[in-house]
Amino acid sequence: MLYNNLSSYLKSKYGKRLSKICIDGGFGCPNRDGKCGTGGCIYCGERGAGEHINGTPSIGEQVAEQLKRGTPDSLYIAYFQNFTNTYAPLEVLKGRYDSALIDERITALAIGTRPDCIDEDVAKLIAGYKERVDVWVELGLQTASDVTAKVINRGYNTEVYRRAAELLTSHGIPFVTHMIIGLPGEKEEDTDATVDLINECGSWGVKIHSIYVMEGTGLADMYRRGEYLPPSQEEYTSLAARAIARLRPDIIVHRVTGDCPEGLLVAPRWNKDKNATINMIRHKLEERDLRQGSLYKK
Ligand code: SF4
Repeated sequence: MLYNNLSSYLKSKYGKRLSKICIDGGFGCPNRDGKCGTGGCIYCGERGAGEHINGTPSIGEQVAEQLKRGTPDSLYIAYFQNFTNTYAPLEVLKGRYDSALIDERITALAIGTRPDCIDEDVAKLIAGYKERVDVWVELGLQTASDVTAKVINRGYNTEVYRRAAELLTSHGIPFVTHMIIGLPGEKEEDTDATVDLINECGSWGVKIHSIYVMEGTGLADMYRRGEYLPPSQEEYTSLAARAIARLRPDIIVHRVTGDCPEGLLVAPRWNKDKNATINMIRHKLEERDLRQGSLYKK
């Protein structure tokens, strides 16, 4: 295997693939409401990284609707995706997580959030769900560089990610780190540094996103002003292959591309070509005789 992909991992654990139920939990984001920033991260759209989710009034309805797509023996991951899904008082968090776990076929709970929105009490609450389901937290790091973090208006510095990683680890909560390849001003060594940080901080999984310019974002403004050009498919797949090879060998790779929501893509056009991108990454690993961990540095 060229890399440990999520579907193989789940298949070996559960004997089958798991379907993802994407949930808009009705949360906000401190990087939009002024608590730590306004305007949000420059690549993030109005729906807070969950544009495809049809946010119906209740979480239970969203889950029930998506459960209909499966069969009686399907298994599911309930994934709280939009915005910052630990950004509310504890009792609100508990109520919303509980209202997603309405069917025993839901085997895992995944919670997407910012590292600056995890504290001891939140970690304890999330750890409590391990008795019922598999649990993981998804942390939006995107880059290890504090310089890039300012450019993208991330709203926290990288030390905050380190502390969140330590806290989650101390509570036995696996976490997936999101990184983006192709952020403004970043070069190969920045991608290397991000992968090294993810390795070092004990991430259980990684989502490697290809950057895309989405309508209505700050990045789209930069692109139109000629201040930003996304990488070509060739450049991206080269960097992604290198990132995979540099990953710690045991990390589970949840994704290797990013999908711009339908109708909102400004650039690059190749973002629509997901399968080709994945195949190119695989080909680049093969032609360089690399696999996950080949370039890992302890
Ligand atoms: S933290 Fe997440 S939801 Fe908030 S602006 Fe950034 S990407 Fe969007």
